[in-house]
Amino acid sequence: MNVAVDEDKCCGAGSCVLVAPEVFDQRDEDGIVLLLDPSPPEPRYAAVREAADICPASAITLHENP
Ligand code: SF4
Repeated sequence: MNVAVDEDKCCGAGSCVLVAPEVFDQRDEDGIVLLLDPSPPEPRYAAVREAADICPASAITLHENP
């Protein structure tokens, strides 16, 4: 799985950080998302999918490997 974030869409809600803190963080200055791990290991997939689902700004895009 590859993860991408759109900083322009992100509104700093922080929901992604709550459900997948190993993959997402927020910038101290403005709360905009920081992608810590663009290729997370399989055990994190469920949390990353949930983060993408609950992001209020649809700023997280997932590319699932076949
Ligand atoms: S949940 Fe979405 S809007 Fe909120 S910090 Fe994460 S990427 Fe940004």
